[in-house]
Amino acid sequence: MRGLVLSLAREPHIRAFLTGGPGRTLARRFVAGDTLAEGLAAALALWRSGARVSLDYLGEAVTSLADAEAACAVYQQTLDHLHRIAVPATLSVKPSQFGIELSRADALRLLGELVDRAARVPTGIRLDMEDSSRTDATLWLWDQLRQQGRSVGVVLQAALYRTPGDLERVIAAGGSIRLCKGAYAEPATVAYPRKADVDAAYRRLLDRLLDYAAAAPPPGPGGLPPAAIATHDPRMIQSALDRIHTLGLPPDRYEFQMLYGVRRDLQQWLIAAGYPLRVYTPWGPSWYPYLSRRLAERPANLLFLLRALLAESVVTRRSTGPTVGAVRR
Ligand SMILES: Cc1cc2nc3c(=O)[nH]c(=O)nc-3n(C[C@H](O)[C@H](O)[C@H](O)COP(=O)(O)OP(=O)(O)OC[C@H]3O[C@@H](n4cnc5c(N)ncnc54)[C@H](O)[C@@H]3O)c2cc1C
Repeated sequence: MRGLVLSLAREPHIRAFLTGGPGRTLARRFVAGDTLAEGLAAALALWRSGARVSLDYLGEAVTSLADAEAACAVYQQTLDHLHRIAVPATLSVKPSQFGIELSRADALRLLGELVDRAARVPTGIRLDMEDSSRTDATLWLWDQLRQQGRSVGVVLQAALYRTPGDLERVIAAGGSIRLCKGAYAEPATVAYPRKADVDAAYRRLLDRLLDYAAAAPPPGPGGLPPAAIATHDPRMIQSALDRIHTLGLPPDRYEFQMLYGVRRDLQQWLIAAGYPLRVYTPWGPSWYPYLSRRLAERPANLLFLLRALLAESVVTRRSTGPTVGAVRR
């Protein structure tokens, strides 16, 4: 299902149709807005509501160094504004937006500059994990930055068979790990095809991650906690809470993370119960690939989209009706 939705979404005519109309309506549920001002307003509102925030300037797979530099400049500007409004939001960045596929050296240089700027807020940066063709390059980037003394967080996906090994590698280096299930359509040669297996892998990795967090030192100012539990799955959240309580894990060693607009009820529950929650808040005009992944994750979102399409066609018919009638008369 996920693969089908993602490949349909790549069809040019479907893309053109969705970016023009109902897709935009749905995107507003998951994306803070097209502009930096809207991203910052969302960050401020979340911060005031008791949530931590991570801002993602949407964009991926740039095709020129100039585009990678432009993306980096937007992130730099974002940091300046965050400093001004005193919201210590972290940044989530995609290596392919920094041109990792064009030149590893340039991507490393640009990210290094951004990390140095973030250290002055101070706040942290985390590398998102994209599809499995980019896992090695992403971990390379994370490792190079680390060796330069520029610590960034990384993301690992429970769906991939390789993840237990990657988790041990990042743990051995004392890194900060966001554990998610994985949003990309992957072949069965690299990832569990069955959701039940992904869920079981998530539980195992989560236990290991929280044990690691319990033994890790507290993060420094603006530092990322060792463990970030990125899921909206109530069963995973309950497992995490059980282990957090058993371990007596201090709140600076972990945080829950959820996506903007997803399971806001659970987000509010966690905040009200006093658990640290960070909301991943994307903004920017290039929202289509992000929206495609949110659609593929959850069939109910497709129904929402269909309802929007139907509503739109009824409105169109109603608004064109009188004209057609007038012509007939
Ligand atoms: C903060 C954060 C950062 C992430 N970063 C990455 C990353 O770098 N790389 C990556 O591959 N993936 C990333 N993901 C996505 C992740 O891999 C999953 O695809 C996504 O979170 C859905 O999995 P789940 O754990 O919520 O569980 P699921 O079992 O898929 O969902 C559990 C419940 O959550 C709700 N839900 C889940 N998704 C949606 C949705 N799209 N719309 C509405 N409701 C939904 C539903 O109620 C569902 O029943 C991130 C997720 C989060 C929360």
